This record gives sequence, structure tokens and C-alpha cells, in this order.
Amino acid sequence: MIELLYLKDSYVKEYNAKITEVIINNDKCFIVLDKTIFYPQGGGQIYDTGKIIDEKGEEYQVISVRKVDGKILHEINKPGLIQNQKIKGIIDWERRYKLMRSHTATHILAETIFKETNALITGNNIDLDKCRIDFDLESNDPEMMKKAVEDANKVIAQNLPIKIEFMSREEAFKIPQLSKLAKGLPENLKEIRVVSIGDYDIQGDGGTHVHNTSEIGKIEFITTDNRGKNNRRIYFKIID
Ligand SMILES: [Zn+2]
Repeated sequence: MIELLYLKDSYVKEYNAKITEVIINNDKCFIVLDKTIFYPQGGGQIYDTGKIIDEKGEEYQVISVRKVDGKILHEINKPGLIQNQKIKGIIDWERRYKLMRSHTATHILAETIFKETNALITGNNIDLDKCRIDFDLESNDPEMMKKAVEDANKVIAQNLPIKIEFMSREEAFKIPQLSKLAKGLPENLKEIRVVSIGDYDIQGDGGTHVHNTSEIGKIEFITTDNRGKNNRRIYFKIID
């Protein structure tokens, strides 16, 4: 089982690991590691990039990271790495930190939209240039969405701490906002990772987050989009 170091500490920028498998497929080269700080695409958040340095000092670029059939595949720009080799991994921190700030901001904005409208959040995408949240709502009201962004910025300005906890399903059941999630999880999943933003928001989540909302900066409204009868979308980005 691969150890996912980013789940416990999203601020680790470089580390040492061992290659457990090398996969060549259609001229593409992938490595599997015994542990990783590279976030694989998932939960709306795009993957990390970075580099791998072998013991001889040879550098390889990590161009994408994806979860495939339970394995985390780090796509490498060129062949040469071999099984059991020890490597140093370094993530592109500028990219990752922006995604961390954006991910925490997305949780806050999703909660302000929910508080404003009671709409169910149906999806999100956290990327570098812009992020989006989809929600289930009949009325299409860009003014309401701008107001939600304003409210989210007020929450951010409170410098709230972000806490990451691992709890059992039983513990999660006791928290009203998490009980629905806990019920929906597979029986064999023993531990739930819970991300809370002050007392404002609490979610079961596997993404990377900042320690304090003061690190986010501000959310800037970009635009809205209609995606069908009840499907609304808001685009936004974070700025310093
Ligand atoms: Zn999330």
C-alpha cells in the first residue's frame, strides 16, 4: 500500500522514496512509488507536477499524476528509472500552493452558496487559471452568486485555522454535517479524513489545503454559466 504523505501534511515539498514499479505503455513512462507527496488528479483538484532525481543526480520531470486501478502513476518525461531505485521527489510548489489556496477557497464558497440557496453542490474543478463549482438550483441569479463570493471573502478575512483530522465512521456519524457522507461510504473504509475551516465548514475530503484562510488571499468572481434546467455553474479564481 502506498503511503499518501500529502494527506497528513500538504506542506512537504521534497522527500525521499523508492520506486516499486516501472510501467512503459505506448511510449509513455510511469513509475509507482512506496510513498508519495505528489497529489493525483481527483476530487476536483488537478494533479501535481515536479521532478524526480535519482542517486546519480539525473533529473526526470513528473508531467502528470493519476490514480489508475488503485495505483498512483507518476508519468515521467523519459525512460531510465528502474525498480527498487531510491529517488528524491520535489513538487512544483508554486503550482501546488495555488491549488491548496484554491481548494480551501472552494470549500468556503461552496458553503456560502449553500447557506444562501440551500442548493446541493454537484461538482467542482480546482485548476490554476480558474475554478468552478456546479450546483443544483432552478433560479439563475448572477447577483446572488456575486453576493456569495462577497460573503466567502468575509469568511476568508477572519483568518480561520484549517484542521485535518482522521476519524472513524462512528465518530463521523456524530457530526451532523458528516453523517450523510459517513452513511454513503463503503463499509470497509474505516477512517475518514475530515477537513474543517474554523467553525464555518466541515467536510470529508482528500484534497490539499492551507493551514489558515489568511493564506488564500481573495476570491474573484469571473462569470456564471447555465448548464441546463437546474444546473448552475460559477467560475472564480483566487488573487493575492
Ligand atoms: Zn475538497
